[in-house]
Amino acid sequence: MAKITMKTPIVEMDGDEMTKVLWGWIKEILIEPFVELKTEYYDLSLPNRDKTDDDVTVKSALAAKKLGVAVKCATITPNAQRVEEYGLKKMWKSPNGTIRGILDGTVFRTPILVPGIKSYVPGWKKPITIARHAYGDIYSAAEDRVEAGESAYLLVCDGSGNELRRKPIHDFLTPGIIQGMHNVDASIESFARSCFTYALSENLPLWFGTKDTISKTYDHRFKDIFREVYESEFEAEFEKRGLEFLYTLVDDIVARVIRSEGGFVWACKNYDGDVLSDMVATAFGSLGMMSSVLVSPDGTYEYEAAHGTVTRHYYKYLKGEETSTNSMATIWAWTGALNMRGQKDGSPKLCAFAKKLENCAARTIEEGFMTGDLVPLFEREGVTPQKLESRKFLEKIAEKL
Ligand code: NAP
Ligand code: MG
Repeated sequence: MAKITMKTPIVEMDGDEMTKVLWGWIKEILIEPFVELKTEYYDLSLPNRDKTDDDVTVKSALAAKKLGVAVKCATITPNAQRVEEYGLKKMWKSPNGTIRGILDGTVFRTPILVPGIKSYVPGWKKPITIARHAYGDIYSAAEDRVEAGESAYLLVCDGSGNELRRKPIHDFLTPGIIQGMHNVDASIESFARSCFTYALSENLPLWFGTKDTISKTYDHRFKDIFREVYESEFEAEFEKRGLEFLYTLVDDIVARVIRSEGGFVWACKNYDGDVLSDMVATAFGSLGMMSSVLVSPDGTYEYEAAHGTVTRHYYKYLKGEETSTNSMATIWAWTGALNMRGQKDGSPKLCAFAKKLENCAARTIEEGFMTGDLVPLFEREGVTPQKLESRKFLEKIAEKL
């Protein structure tokens, strides 16, 4: 066959360890034989981030903003041990944090569903995508321990520190604790816009819940902003497509999620998203089956796997031992980016290729060929699961492709 051509390049952000190994193989075995791949390449591996004083991360994010679509390999976020292991100049910040800061985006995480890999919640038949608001609330709160006899107030000052307003929190008769947290309208608006944009791009309903009956100013602001952004920018398109925007109390949402069959985007406040994304990921199976995309309010998409660089497997690989690392989420990062590139460029062949690659990968597992992490989760009548080595799994998908 003639290779499928691309109009505009995608930004390719290479990474570290086992996922870097998978990265090269996915391109070699599953993409380059079929697609005349055009990428603008940035090496975000830790040694190169160190060499460029992390400038490469900033450049790659700016390139993503320019080209609109990026695909990212998992990268090491250095800690003290990594500083020593790699002889780093300093403990560089998380690349994902830097990229998110530049793109001002929201992260959407969606499990990859394959027949045979069962969810712990039997009713869940379609994926549930969680969108977590990654700014403010308790993650940047001030806290204090309060003694008996002390009183705490919420205090608002002008720019010079002159008191404007004061609200009592509590007069402590016995010792206790306090916490002050914040959010800003602009961030909530960006979050809302990203959620509605993403829901439309996936043609899915959007669900959102807060505790606005109890938190009449704080959570209520989230409710109001979502409503305002929806009505002024998205309602017409949602109605045209028959998609629902459901807002209700967060407890009600949780109950509806459990009763649902999946197939929607669930927007979560920061803490809710932190907790509930782990619940949803676990209910759907393995870390290797969780895909992730960062969507900015201006419509830039950066795709990646939700898991890390799978260090333990990489050390085995370096010793020449066999590994069976799940490449599904990294494949999905590539297919997500190719499909979005195809959509933005009006190139249906590229979109169709991405869909076919996803189908072939899913069917390979469905027919019993998979990596070790999935074997204990697999249940399908008449099919005995076979554990394949990392590269063999990709070659098995290629046979089908
Ligand atoms: P991890 O790489 O996600 O791996 C944790 C464990 O989960 C693995 O040891 C493995 O379990 C299992 N696992 C994860 N992905 C798998 C896959 N694709 N196939 C099979 N098993 C998989 O997390 P980590 O070990 O905590 O972090 C390693 C490095 O990744 C760190 O340097 C961290 O900074 C970085 N990280 C990067 C990102 C990112 O770039 N988005 C996200 C998270 C972490 P078994 O060992 O039991 O097989
Ligand atoms: Mg969490």
